[in-house]
Amino acid sequence: MKTELCGNCGETAHIVRKNYEFKEMGVPVVLHRIDVIVCDHCGNSDPIIPNMDGLMRVLALGLLCKPEKLCGEEVRFLRKYVNKSAVEFSRFLHMSHTHFSKIENDRYEVSPQADRLIRLMVIGMDPNLNEGIKELMAIMPNITDDCCDEKKQIQIDMSKGVYQYA
Ligand SMILES: [Zn+2]
Repeated sequence: MKTELCGNCGETAHIVRKNYEFKEMGVPVVLHRIDVIVCDHCGNSDPIIPNMDGLMRVLALGLLCKPEKLCGEEVRFLRKYVNKSAVEFSRFLHMSHTHFSKIENDRYEVSPQADRLIRLMVIGMDPNLNEGIKELMAIMPNITDDCCDEKKQIQIDMSKGVYQYA
């Protein structure tokens, strides 16, 4: 069995291949069948993510093509993905910074038009997302304008570089 030192307590921990709920992204993500360092001493578990940039990109593509309107944390993830401050991003939207921050904090709902504009802006700002344009254009008329009540998980299979909604 493969072992690794625990990043939390430094004891020997073992490596297990399993699905892992990755909370560090700020949106609900489950990584399919990845290696996780599991420590029996302190209970800590750490995923081994060989390609963090690739993971972020697949997650961004998944959010851009989400079939429902985006919620605040998803808007925030996409904004950070393109390395914009909330002030910079809100200027692209011609929206006040205050209003935009309330959207990110789920205190205001994003309007259906702002949701579409945010998706198009993000795709336009990062050439690595270009492959998502066709799908976004295909789904855009059918994106539902209700915010999802229960948060949908995105499942990501990094071995194939694909996402799907739970
Ligand atoms: Zn430990």
